[in-house]
Amino acid sequence: MSKSILDTILKAERGSRLSLENVPIAELPNFVYHTEAPSNLTRLGVPTVFNSLSDMGKDWRYVNIPFMPTARQRAAVSLALSHCDLLAVYIGGLDAAAHRVGRDGQKLVDPLRRIDRFVQSVFKEAEEVLGKGFGWVVFSDHGIETVSNYVDPMKLRQALWTRDIQPKSVFFDSTMMRVWGLEPTLSSRQLNSVERLGHFISPGEASRFGVDFRTPEFGQQIFLLNPGVVFHPSYVSWLRPKGMHGYSPDVDSQFGVLVSKLGCEIRSDHSHPMSDIKRLVIESVVADA
Ligand SMILES: [Zn+2]
Repeated sequence: MSKSILDTILKAERGSRLSLENVPIAELPNFVYHTEAPSNLTRLGVPTVFNSLSDMGKDWRYVNIPFMPTARQRAAVSLALSHCDLLAVYIGGLDAAAHRVGRDGQKLVDPLRRIDRFVQSVFKEAEEVLGKGFGWVVFSDHGIETVSNYVDPMKLRQALWTRDIQPKSVFFDSTMMRVWGLEPTLSSRQLNSVERLGHFISPGEASRFGVDFRTPEFGQQIFLLNPGVVFHPSYVSWLRPKGMHGYSPDVDSQFGVLVSKLGCEIRSDHSHPMSDIKRLVIESVVADA
């Protein structure tokens, strides 16, 4: 990180308790970086369903529904809508709205209605351009939980380690502390003292959650916060979020949604492998071919 960026951060945060000391600088070269824009859906680090569709000779369009849709963004959708086999609509604005207001109460209703109207207008236009019965999917990436407890990362560090006995490095996402070089093992007394905040995920959970990466770049151990608890400040946001995702996928509030022209099935278990999702998306096209 350049000195000028560091200076700017420190100046902006003067007087707050944000500190860069926990950024695992030594580990950063081990991280996997992608220079592709996330919107370039066929050139990500791993093949996606969009690669499969392209390989099958199927044409697709991707539309992101923003939090505060502008006329310009709406016009851009119109320009992008041309003949295709699948219209994929991501309701990205839901994430931005729910971070700002949480999931309870009237405050979320207005943004939801705005997003809904935008989706409705896109579908109306898509039907004119693509004809009735076109292939489509609408999806979010996760749900949201209302934040009830902000935790200073330093408090957790102090509860778990002493000044002399520390892990090599730790990194604070909003809902996870990633740890490298954790020695020695923590006592159950130490773990019990923080169980109201969260817990270190077991190898069994890591496998069930799909995060047993077997490579060190995502953290050798992960401390996952309980629903509603958020690290603040963290290294991913300076804002105090009112809603957050990134908790255990067992929690109902974290469920995402995927609706397709084939229908809407509500399932209460969280274990949908990506291959299920890929199949559903492809069937949404092929069913009509
Ligand atoms: Zn988010």
